[in-house]
Amino acid sequence: MTQTVPDVLVVGGGIGGLTTALCAARRGLSVRVLEQAATYGEIGAGIQLAPNATRVLGRLGLLDRLRDVGVLPRRLVLAHAGTGRELTHLPLTDLPRRYGGPYVVLHRSDLLAALLDACRAAGVALETGARAGEVTDTGGRVEVRCTDGREFAGGVLLAADGLHSRIRPLLVADEPVCSGYVAYRGAVPLERVAHRSDLDDVVVFVGPGRHLVQYPLRARTLYNQVAVFRSPGFARGEADWGGPDELDAAFAGSCEHVRGAITAVGRDARWPMYDRPPTEHWVTGRIGLLGDAAHPMLQYLAQGACQAVEDADAVTDALASGAPAAEALRRYAERRAPRAARVQTTARRWGELWHLDGAEAGARDALLLGRDPDDHDHVGWLYG
Ligand SMILES: Cc1cc2nc3c(=O)[nH]c(=O)nc-3n(C[C@H](O)[C@H](O)[C@H](O)COP(=O)(O)OP(=O)(O)OC[C@H]3O[C@@H](n4cnc5c(N)ncnc54)[C@H](O)[C@@H]3O)c2cc1C
Repeated sequence: MTQTVPDVLVVGGGIGGLTTALCAARRGLSVRVLEQAATYGEIGAGIQLAPNATRVLGRLGLLDRLRDVGVLPRRLVLAHAGTGRELTHLPLTDLPRRYGGPYVVLHRSDLLAALLDACRAAGVALETGARAGEVTDTGGRVEVRCTDGREFAGGVLLAADGLHSRIRPLLVADEPVCSGYVAYRGAVPLERVAHRSDLDDVVVFVGPGRHLVQYPLRARTLYNQVAVFRSPGFARGEADWGGPDELDAAFAGSCEHVRGAITAVGRDARWPMYDRPPTEHWVTGRIGLLGDAAHPMLQYLAQGACQAVEDADAVTDALASGAPAAEALRRYAERRAPRAARVQTTARRWGELWHLDGAEAGARDALLLGRDPDDHDHVGWLYG
């Protein structure tokens, strides 16, 4: 091992890992990131960032750039997939006043590029092709041997290696839980989607066992769609479940707008939806989990990455406090785990609510139609 030992070794260079690296560097800590892929990158789809994340990104000085490459939607709309009727909405323009940060939607690669540039400028050491294998906590530092034989060490190791984390099994004996739902998603040039919603809105069309999300990206030149449905093939125990034929069948009973939109959804890749049960075991010695490695959640609240950004801020705040490393990590877990658990469990319930059928769906719709759009009861705890 020839490298100098940084204060913080981050495993995983996704949104969680890079935000953590940047937060740590800005707090005066030395950082190295190990990313298994040959280059740092994200999938070609959009992401929604709520005020609880944009507040942190604003403090990191990234907000102007994200505003330029993203879109600040005016409303978050819930609509009926069968009729297209709007059920309720949340005005988004006053979120900066209420919660100290805007609601921004942007292309994932634009977010990652902004984080990468800022990490480079802050002196973060960025390794690629570095797939973490064996991890040893010596008591004084943490050592990592990568699968290509390279070795690295850090004062602490922060595992931001995602849903299928290699490091989480050192702390928790569990497996990802498959919801039986699958997502098709992607961003394409705006003109390729004929059935668009208002370009000032993020719209979710909800229906029995399915939903469609639509919003514009990159200064309204791209349009992002996410189509999610419960797979009958999964329920039947088929190995190759959730194919494009299931996608078309799932949305066949939808209104013309939604059916038309589905024809513009890319079919080349699909993402089965997983989460894990909440755990409070985020830390052992000098090793800590963050992001999807700590709290993978279903995407219905659009909070997985936002929670990773909160982790990044909290863990580096604790590490920079001057407390001994293991104690700092314990404080981080105590602060963050209960909140992330609430978001994980609420996300599951949110999905159940969206996907109701029959009389239960009717009761939901009646409640939503009567809701005051300025009622922040269901988001205040999350965004505030
Ligand atoms: C359909 C869908 C829509 C979503 N929409 C939103 C949204 O609108 N808003 C939101 O906040 N969240 C959203 N999410 C959730 C969000 O995408 C994730 O929570 C977030 O990307 C997690 O970031 P992460 O950095 O923790 O993990 P990941 O993004 O999974 O990154 C992990 C990184 O670690 C690397 N890695 C893995 N193993 C190793 C190893 N052994 N060694 C080195 N590197 C390794 C990987 O290559 C990867 O780069 C959505 C998720 C889905 C599925």
